[in-house]
Amino acid sequence: MKSRYAFFWYPRFFPTLVTVVGLLGSYMALPGRLSDSRLPSFGMAHPVKATNLVFSVPTQYQGKTVRKVDLGTPEKVIALTFDDGPWPKTTLQVLEILRKNNIKATFFWIGRNLKNYPDIGRRVVQDGHVIGNHTWHHWYFHMNPAVAAAEIENTAALIYKTTGVKTSLFRPPGGFLNNGLAAYARSQKYAIVMWSDDPGENHIGRSAPVLANNVLKAARPGEIILLHDIHPRTVQALPIIIAGLKQRGYRFVTVPQLLAMQKRAQNPKTEPPKAAN
Ligand SMILES: [Zn+2]
Repeated sequence: MKSRYAFFWYPRFFPTLVTVVGLLGSYMALPGRLSDSRLPSFGMAHPVKATNLVFSVPTQYQGKTVRKVDLGTPEKVIALTFDDGPWPKTTLQVLEILRKNNIKATFFWIGRNLKNYPDIGRRVVQDGHVIGNHTWHHWYFHMNPAVAAAEIENTAALIYKTTGVKTSLFRPPGGFLNNGLAAYARSQKYAIVMWSDDPGENHIGRSAPVLANNVLKAARPGEIILLHDIHPRTVQALPIIIAGLKQRGYRFVTVPQLLAMQKRAQNPKTEPPKAAN
């Protein structure tokens, strides 16, 4: 008996099982859906009316990985980013806090969450925030090119169908850059947006004031702060983070705005003169 079941105790068994289940899942979820027209289950489009629905990045960032921006000036700007939504209750609470403070942020969405909560997604876009692609399933394991493409393209298609948004921003789940997703995103000229400051919301028992303090301690101009609009603790920490950063003289920008600022800092002579406004 012992030898018959020995394989199940091999350390290699569990990663293998995860991969097999994952690939099976992708196969079943993948009826050749790399184009819009093959996504009938997503239903009618309800694009939102917002001032900007196309989030592009300067040429120099297309296919490149960004962790922070070196502005070359002492200007105190910082980008808040929120991953893994849209999510009931907490995303709406984050929106309310951002609205009260007149801040625009960048949200990286998981496709299947947007599928479940399209109205919340539309609220985010309606409020003028920037949207990025965070894959369909938030898988970490290695994916072949077809699965990686489906993870990103299905999410991009649903974002477009639900909100009218087209985005060139991609954030790899877990920050994994070598599991096939980032390679596909690069080939499609997405900017791979990482982060420079992670306050550690996933650590159980880390209180909201501690999270906020972690952000404030690490804050530097040009940083991209990683947050998640799915944790009640993040919602609790957010007003403290915003108040603390404002007190330190920071102004909040979206990721595309931050990238545009770095482009100007790097190419001061190639930019046209600024119009007075
Ligand atoms: Zn994530």
